[in-house]
Amino acid sequence: MSVTVVNPATEETVAELDEAGVEETDAAVARAKEAFPSWRDVAPGPRAAMLRRLATLVEENGEELARLETRNVGKPISDSRGEVGMVAEVFHFYSGAVDKHYGETIPVAGGVDMTFREPLGVVGLIVPWNFPLNISSWKLGPALACGNTVVLKPAELTPLTALRLAELALEAGIPEGVVNVLVGPGRVVGQRLVEHPEVAKIGFTGSTEVGRGVMQAAAATIKRVTLELGGKSANVVFADADLEKAAAAAPYAVFGNAGQDCCARSRVLVERTVLDRFLELLVDAAKGVKLGDPEDESTEMGPLISAEHRERVASFVDGNVAFRGEIPEGRGFWFPCTVVGPVTNEERVAREEVFGPVVAVIPFEDEADAIRIANDTPYGLSGSVWTENGSRALRVARALETGVISVNSNSSVRVSTPFGGFKQSGFGRELGMHGLAGYSEVKNVFVATE
Ligand code: NAD
Repeated sequence: MSVTVVNPATEETVAELDEAGVEETDAAVARAKEAFPSWRDVAPGPRAAMLRRLATLVEENGEELARLETRNVGKPISDSRGEVGMVAEVFHFYSGAVDKHYGETIPVAGGVDMTFREPLGVVGLIVPWNFPLNISSWKLGPALACGNTVVLKPAELTPLTALRLAELALEAGIPEGVVNVLVGPGRVVGQRLVEHPEVAKIGFTGSTEVGRGVMQAAAATIKRVTLELGGKSANVVFADADLEKAAAAAPYAVFGNAGQDCCARSRVLVERTVLDRFLELLVDAAKGVKLGDPEDESTEMGPLISAEHRERVASFVDGNVAFRGEIPEGRGFWFPCTVVGPVTNEERVAREEVFGPVVAVIPFEDEADAIRIANDTPYGLSGSVWTENGSRALRVARALETGVISVNSNSSVRVSTPFGGFKQSGFGRELGMHGLAGYSEVKNVFVATE
């Protein structure tokens, strides 16, 4: 069996790879298990040095990785370059974290009590197709820093950069068997990793539906799981906001990565008194988003990942379209930037994760109404609040049921700050020092001194 990797902008085959199954998964877990004791025992200094070297190799091979990611995912080359830059930064950060992951001493009677942060063992990392290299690094960095060995399963549509990263890990001096990459279907390789008794933890990023199954299957072996799942984030614009700035930024917060972003602010909530004005500004801004050849330096949005996915995205657009952009001619899984609305929060486009360049504009009456609508979703990943009133900004940021929120900005992700969801967007945190908690276990040791 083989996996055909396609360029979504041209529909051409980029690579044919052997497909792994259960047998290959078991073999990879066995390799990782064998490599674990000596990797766990590598002293902090040399382990940090290897991660630092990996970061440098990602930088040195940055252009190659970015081109590979663009050809495989269809994302604009400028985005891919930015993402590769973040990957290097992630490994730099976690190289620095190796010797700062402290335990504690706790006052007790009759002796000394101390805690250690122990690695878990073999961890399974399951990654989606929208940010293949980035999300791999968010898991690999803390997993390796804590002393775990890894079996990484990229999405079958986009495995190329993860495979290249594994080569760079070896070149960085990380021993054979510590980082294993498997290309194969989720329901076979992913499922086996989740069920495998020798896998201690699953770090999963993907849809809420598959995440639910991962959590269920992990229960059989009481496997640790962290789940980074879907979103339906709100971009809340109050009448007192800098409307020009909010409207100019809004399209990029939902059409970025062609809308295939778990943090997409795909619901724009606008205070009714400024709805018409904001909609006008938003449509003007959406007209400016440049679609085209992802390898072109000036392109801002590429195609969707597949024909099948395009069909699903199209099913959300069935009327009340305020704006529909143009798409390039010729081959590729293109879908236009689309603004829908005004709609209510009850409509399908406002309730489900579209995962395409479609934004729903929803009016609200006042602050309480904005909070109610923003929270009326099973998801809770990301979001924004736009207002010039500082007290309101903090009140609303605290009231929103979401793991990540920005005020007068649409940025969600930084290397040094925690990222993850509330509610059905998952649990556990990636990035920053918080990310280490998902890849280590606290051990308590008491030493009697009397
Ligand atoms: P998906 O859930 O279909 O697949 C994710 C990964 O799980 C893939 O590697 C897939 O092969 C694997 N998988 C599929 N079935 C499996 C099974 N039964 N057992 C184990 N693994 C299995 O998601 P996708 O379509 O690749 O990605 C899009 C989704 O990911 C969206 O819902 C998006 O919101 C979410 N996402 C979340 C975050 C976040 O950090 N919260 C980031 C990016 C994407």
